[in-house]
Amino acid sequence: MLKCSHCGEWNTTTENQSHCNYCGTEFFTISAAEEQSLARRKTAGDLKIKIQESDSPVVVFFKHTFNFVQMVFLAIVSFIVWFVAAGPG
Ligand SMILES: [Zn+2]
Repeated sequence: MLKCSHCGEWNTTTENQSHCNYCGTEFFTISAAEEQSLARRKTAGDLKIKIQESDSPVVVFFKHTFNFVQMVFLAIVSFIVWFVAAGPG
């Protein structure tokens, strides 16, 4: 079984199959770890506070600050994860 990265359908793959049965997208192998980190990145993006046009300047300022702090925090966390994964042992 192989999940299509484009349409998300599960293909019962046969030997030498290189395209999705459902949408025709060419398969490229994506590891489970990569898929997980992609999903995590998507979730992280959703956590951002959306700034409305009706917000007052003070609210906009705090939302910007929160989003910035969160971004920095995520960057540090992903650096640590990378460092632990890349480091010896
Ligand atoms: Zn597909």
